[in-house]
Amino acid sequence: AMNTRTLLVTGGAGFIGSAYLRKVIAETSWRAVNLDKLTYAASPDAVSELQLSGRYRFVQGDICDSRTVAALLTAEKPDAIVHFAAETHVDRSIDGPSKFIETNIVGTFTVLEAAARYYAAAPAETRERFRFHHISTDEVFGSLDEGKTFDEASPHNPNSPYSASKAASDHLVRAWHRTYGLPIMVTHCSNNYGPYQFPEKLIPLMTIRALSGRSLPVYGDGRNVRDWLYVDDHVDALLAVLERGRVGESYGIGGGVQIDNLELVRTICTILDRLSPAADRKARQDLITHVPDRPGHDRRYATNIEKIAREVGWQPKVTLPSGLQETIEWYLANRAWWEKILAGCYTTERLGVVTRR
Ligand code: NAD
Repeated sequence: AMNTRTLLVTGGAGFIGSAYLRKVIAETSWRAVNLDKLTYAASPDAVSELQLSGRYRFVQGDICDSRTVAALLTAEKPDAIVHFAAETHVDRSIDGPSKFIETNIVGTFTVLEAAARYYAAAPAETRERFRFHHISTDEVFGSLDEGKTFDEASPHNPNSPYSASKAASDHLVRAWHRTYGLPIMVTHCSNNYGPYQFPEKLIPLMTIRALSGRSLPVYGDGRNVRDWLYVDDHVDALLAVLERGRVGESYGIGGGVQIDNLELVRTICTILDRLSPAADRKARQDLITHVPDRPGHDRRYATNIEKIAREVGWQPKVTLPSGLQETIEWYLANRAWWEKILAGCYTTERLGVVTRR
């Protein structure tokens, strides 16, 4: 049964979904179907080589379109749905929340409804192994006090339109399990970083700006603490949960170490100074400037990973210094990828931190 498994992955042309698909095709014998709308955030280059495997199919489509989703389930008969597709950038959710409501809430509802109908009608052997794996974030739990961590019992307490829309989707997924018996699993991961992350997110944003000697805009005092996880570690955790996670359960996933934004940006500067010294030898750290804080900005996130370690035997392998080094090396070696993005839909100006009010 293992070698005939088919996954339906939504949002598989994005940062994490594409890393997941690259691993699935490289390291398993499964088939994978990628349903992705190709929004501004998608990176077709991150999955284009998978076509060569003969076990990968790309379908451009919107998860909010119930006919597309239902037709795909009927045609592909997947053994699991792994649901990544979402609008993901907090700053964009503040400037324009409606797409977040549409994709993250209505889209998740649409996939759930089609999945429940497909599951109810599926043959017994498919029903037995079928999973609906919902990819969520630790941001749904809100902001943490010093010394505490999020765990699976933490209440949902979202503060941004993005995290509120993800929290809503978590509740729908839970209800589809309780009400319709859909075999769901939910994972709540901390901040990811790594190759192919869209250049509006903190680590690639700072790397790219520091490379060209532009200012490095840090929100507020820069003391907001985040738990960072290398994307390949997240992917390993997701595959472990799909294999060994329990139906109806949620699992926290995180790097287990926390760092504040200011220290993170300083570390990026130090690594860049070593890998690619600035022509004028000016310290990149001097480029750091403080800008008005993001409204509703959560102060601290930290994820407890005891449950996933105990139940599925996963723990992170990549330390933050080595993952950062690898990531920055990737951005240096793949200029063409991000320069294409900067030149296209995304103006260099938009890469500055948005100053609003
Ligand atoms: P991303 O923004 O890089 O990619 C999202 C992908 O979804 C894109 O390819 C986009 O085209 C696709 N998409 C968007 N709307 C769609 C729609 N209506 N129909 C079909 N496809 C659509 O996102 P990411 O950073 O890879 O995050 C993936 C998932 O992981 C999200 O659900 C996010 O909430 C969650 N997550 C992300 C992080 C992180 O640090 N990036 C951490 C924890 C959880």
